[in-house]
Amino acid sequence: MVEMTTYDTNNIFAKVMRGEIPNTTVYEDDDVLSFMDIFPQSEGHTLVIPKNTQATNFLDIDPDTLAVLIQRTQKLATAVNNALNPDGIRIIQFNGEAAGQTVFHLHFHIIPAWTGCQMQPHSSNPADAVALQALADKIKVCL
Ligand code: 5GP
Repeated sequence: MVEMTTYDTNNIFAKVMRGEIPNTTVYEDDDVLSFMDIFPQSEGHTLVIPKNTQATNFLDIDPDTLAVLIQRTQKLATAVNNALNPDGIRIIQFNGEAAGQTVFHLHFHIIPAWTGCQMQPHSSNPADAVALQALADKIKVCL
């Protein structure tokens, strides 16, 4: 059974939302924050997190909050698709350490894929900050 960890108000994404850790923002509204993953699995790897919940994973979020989050994730994925023209897009979400989750504030990954290009392993190589900003700017134009 997936362990229901208590929400840690000092998890990385809570700190990002409070502005204690910088992020390369792609989109923000009252409900969600979307920013570039600093260890991207492919060029354009974008994260979407809900702002008004302490859900650690998919199983403990209120369904109405989840509905807004998934709608915003689709909006962001569409912008990534239009901005970067990938051959495919993975929408990924991990629940529990055993599944690969490392940050315990619910989030969706939007990971563009190109035929013949191998993805980086999860949370491996840090991206160049300037390159991340350029990608975020490209995606923002398509929102
Ligand atoms: P999870 O493993 O929990 O599904 O995903 C967490 C994601 O957050 C990973 O893809 C990892 O690369 C990313 N990440 C970890 N720390 C930071 C950070 O400080 N800033 C950003 N933008 N992403 C982070």
